[in-house]
Amino acid sequence: GPMIEMRQVEKYYGAFHALKSIDLTVTKGEKIVLCGPSGSGKSTLIRCINHLETIKSGEIVVAGHRLNDSQKAVDAVRQTVGMVFQQFNLFPHRTVLENCILAPMRVRKLSRADAEATARKYLERVRIGDQANKYPAQLSGGQQQRVAIARALCMEPKAMLFDEPTSALDPEMVKEVLDTMVSLAQDGMTMICVTHEMGFAHQVADRVIFMADGRILEENVPSIFFKSP
Ligand code: ADP
Ligand code: ADP
Repeated sequence: GPMIEMRQVEKYYGAFHALKSIDLTVTKGEKIVLCGPSGSGKSTLIRCINHLETIKSGEIVVAGHRLNDSQKAVDAVRQTVGMVFQQFNLFPHRTVLENCILAPMRVRKLSRADAEATARKYLERVRIGDQANKYPAQLSGGQQQRVAIARALCMEPKAMLFDEPTSALDPEMVKEVLDTMVSLAQDGMTMICVTHEMGFAHQVADRVIFMADGRILEENVPSIFFKSP
């Protein structure tokens, strides 16, 4: 079956209708770029997939786990889908290595030694293994975001969600984070990326989905989306 499936999803914030009949099927290995104006619901859509937001109606199925409000389903989905935020969300008083081993120990029940080996592997994977003992504030924004990616990978997710991962970065650091994402894409990771980086979209996306006013307005392969007029 598909990796991620959303059927007729409706999301409200109070009286505000944030997602309107969202239907989206993401197959294994597929890379989706979500774009559209600010406030169109992109962040809400991917947050619903990870159950960071609850929906009013409709259905979300992630790697066979049907999302409902049971903690068991939520835990299963969060182990399956990693998320990277605009603001790296690292624990400031923990080292890079500690940031990466906490969830694998608590959620995957790895021993400290196994969690540390996993963390070192993925920190190397994002080319930041030499920063393992530093604190987040000692790193550049680009390095912190790569740590956040490594931390998500330590859960060995089947899919990754990116919510404007380069928007908070100084321009010179955008490329190192995009390069990391391209490399993950080339490894076959299933990805949904909210980003304004259209070069990345062109390079990596199988489909570009354009949202407006809580709806999926248009979706296309990038070659059509980026066709010059
Ligand atoms: P609910 O109906 O579930 O209580 P609300 O719409 O009342 O949801 O808002 C939930 C939370 O989100 C509240 O803490 C509110 O202050 C906050 N909030 C409200 N509007 C916005 C917004 N536009 N962006 C971000 N947060 C908001
Ligand atoms: P985008 O990612 O496309 O910028 P969002 O998904 O962040 O859009 O937000 C969609 C709409 O929902 C916006 O109008 C925003 O103000 C509103 N919204 C987002 N979070 C909340 C919240 N917690 N409470 C109330 N409204 C919210």
